[in-house]
Amino acid sequence: MNTKEIIEKTNKYVMNTYGRQELALTKAHGCNAWDAECNQYIDCVAGIAVNNIGHTHKKVVEAITKQSKELIHCSNIYYIQPQAELAQKLVEISSHDKVFFSNSGAESNEGAIKLARKYTGKKNIISMKNSFHGRTLTTLAATGQTKYQKGFFVPEDFTYVKYNDSQKANDAITDDTAAILVEPIQGESGVQVPDKNYLKELRKICNDNEILLIFDEVQTGFGRTGKMFAEELFNASPDITTCAKAIAGGLPMGAILAKDEIASAFNPGDHASTFGGSPLVSSAALATINVIEDENLVEKSATNGEYLKEKLEELMNTHEDIVEVRGYGLMIGVEIDHPCGDLVSKAQNEGLILNCAAGNVLRLVPPLIITKEEINKVVSIIDKIL
Ligand SMILES: *Cc1c(COP(=O)(O)O)cnc(C)c1O
Repeated sequence: MNTKEIIEKTNKYVMNTYGRQELALTKAHGCNAWDAECNQYIDCVAGIAVNNIGHTHKKVVEAITKQSKELIHCSNIYYIQPQAELAQKLVEISSHDKVFFSNSGAESNEGAIKLARKYTGKKNIISMKNSFHGRTLTTLAATGQTKYQKGFFVPEDFTYVKYNDSQKANDAITDDTAAILVEPIQGESGVQVPDKNYLKELRKICNDNEILLIFDEVQTGFGRTGKMFAEELFNASPDITTCAKAIAGGLPMGAILAKDEIASAFNPGDHASTFGGSPLVSSAALATINVIEDENLVEKSATNGEYLKEKLEELMNTHEDIVEVRGYGLMIGVEIDHPCGDLVSKAQNEGLILNCAAGNVLRLVPPLIITKEEINKVVSIIDKIL
């Protein structure tokens, strides 16, 4: 099928919930992607911070090919070897002790909220204005953006406070507060980076008030910010961390990570998922994390991110419409003083896939394997379209 045919069929049969680009990717490898007409692109969206190790990585393809011939699925009422190995790996690379496997970011946040309520026996969750935590009813309620909630009668057990203002979070605590839920760096609202001490201050506030601190690392996890997890940037360890996006090299998986004591609030029957931690997806995630380690992608994210940020900052000399370049590692936002939706299609015509977050922020979240040459090309295309 050509692009036009794919678009027509999609519009006829798929529910109209996405504002889509007129682009149908049919192939991708490493940092490059191709559309149905074989036009080549450098991919700075990476499935929205999913393909951290690059598209169709050989090690992931090998792992899922091998596992698919042995066991694709079996219920969590049985023991699953790749799941056990993956859980061990996640505990080794994180600050946590126990893992629950889900299938997406929203589901991980949903489960984390259940866990926090079960552990504390309290209901209210403090979350941040302009946050993003998912599209299920409860995670939509946690998402501090009314434009996404309108018309859906979301649950009302959430209190929204200003991001990057720990005093506001402190002031919002009541006898019924179970937890503070926060993205270490806000992604969907345009790569918003908090002050260095903000998360540490939240940690102290949670300790003082005996409530839980939950980090939503769905977007920031797995090397994206130049650390394995963004908590390492801020020296603040949460009670619960939620993951998804990049965890399984492009296959759908989410995970809730928690300290032993918190995790023990869940007993058999309290939480479950038919597909969570399936043999196939667990083997893909294990291969993905091994690639991140073996190819030093956390360090590469830090150094390549620094290089990309410098190059983008240089553009500020010639383009007055750039307000700010911000971010850590390869999670970078370029704030423009006007809406940037049209820049996305202009970039596409030049062979660059970009994404516009929050209306006026170009979000760059390429695979962590991106090379200096590719970065130079990305920056020259951005220079041209601006
Ligand atoms: C993408 C994202 C989610 C939602 O993940 P899904 O897999 O789409 O449910 C939640 N939180 C953050 C920070 C995200 O970036």
